[in-house]
Amino acid sequence: MARLAGIELGGTKCIAVLGEGERIAERRVFPTTTPEEALAAALAAITDWDKAAPVAAIGIASFGPVRVDPRAEDYGTILDTPKPGWARAKLLDMVRAQFGCPLMLDTDVNAAALAEYEHGAARGCSTMVYLTIGTGLGGGVLVNGQPVHGRLHPEIGHLRLRRADGDGFGGACPFHGDCIEGLIAGPALHARLPVEPGLLDPTAPEWDPVGHDLAELVAFLVLTLSPQRIVIGGGVANRQPHLIERARRIVPSLLAGYLGPKETLQLDRVICPPALGDDAGPVGALELAGRALLACTAGK
Ligand code: ZN
Repeated sequence: MARLAGIELGGTKCIAVLGEGERIAERRVFPTTTPEEALAAALAAITDWDKAAPVAAIGIASFGPVRVDPRAEDYGTILDTPKPGWARAKLLDMVRAQFGCPLMLDTDVNAAALAEYEHGAARGCSTMVYLTIGTGLGGGVLVNGQPVHGRLHPEIGHLRLRRADGDGFGGACPFHGDCIEGLIAGPALHARLPVEPGLLDPTAPEWDPVGHDLAELVAFLVLTLSPQRIVIGGGVANRQPHLIERARRIVPSLLAGYLGPKETLQLDRVICPPALGDDAGPVGALELAGRALLACTAGK
């Protein structure tokens, strides 16, 4: 059984994992400080595991925007980001400088989507979306088990959608103000809720516009991609499960019967939490490692 390693680079923390088969055998967690520090800590963990028994491939699941096209000269490089010190960080090159094994890099959300497709809530789904609502809001799209990249990769978090009636919150995105990330990701909740999200009663009316905004996003994705699953994870969503309930309740009214009663009834199945919980990202990084190994074996 191949030993695979994965690195999930998130907005606030970085997780290195060792996988044996489908199981996470070991993990280490570090703060996402500078690229040099965070990568050095993750690579030190993988070096330890590699010494015990060789690691066959490494997958990297990174926050974006990041170049995910393996044919591009800057494959594996973070693009322009407001995150201090991270713009133009050459993630893949830093890993490649220490490890000669097969590597694959994709977005954190595409990786989490792969994990849910292979092992979780989206098994057997030809089209699925994985949303993460945490420090930021990102969305990965899988069609027939392949991540959608296009020119860069989807940037679902920066869609601007119809606002709830009477909601005057200006939004927290440094680029767009009230894009969906600017309305419902962690910093937005800190700005718009009267107390910490964890301290606010799930039935409080202050959650109403947040639930509406998430429902607008889900309705948009249902109409655009016709997915069999929209898996909604990330720190905010995993700790506020009532948001998924709210989305399930509100989306039918936004669709206004357009898809018919049968499709509307199935929305409860379409909109779901990740079966893998917080592990969707790290398991996804291991999936990327598995695919890197497979591609290398097939190419020989
Ligand atoms: Zn934005």
